[in-house]
Amino acid sequence: MIPKDSKNKHTAGLGSPSPDCYTVFYDMSSGGSEKENFTKLAVRLPEREAVEWFEKTFGRDPHYVTCQCCGADYAVYERIDTDHADVVVDDPSVYNKQEHKPGQGLE
Ligand SMILES: [Zn+2]
Repeated sequence: MIPKDSKNKHTAGLGSPSPDCYTVFYDMSSGGSEKENFTKLAVRLPEREAVEWFEKTFGRDPHYVTCQCCGADYAVYERIDTDHADVVVDDPSVYNKQEHKPGQGLE
């Protein structure tokens, strides 16, 4: 038996999700265009929660495939940093996507 706690250790870089990790959504421009006002968004949540947050916030499934030849709309992956995302969400509970509009300091 593995104690449940062992999953929660901070093991950055070893592939184990930790509360300190980010999940990055990288718009693949499936179907020829970006879906939201960012190319790459990093949110401070483990992937499973990040996907739920994403669906709630943007009203879309990041794993949806708009165009079969292009593949999924977003690449979704966990990182211990923000991977140079153009939008970084450190506090998902207060994020308001209206604050992030194209051309407002997000180059
Ligand atoms: Zn395509």
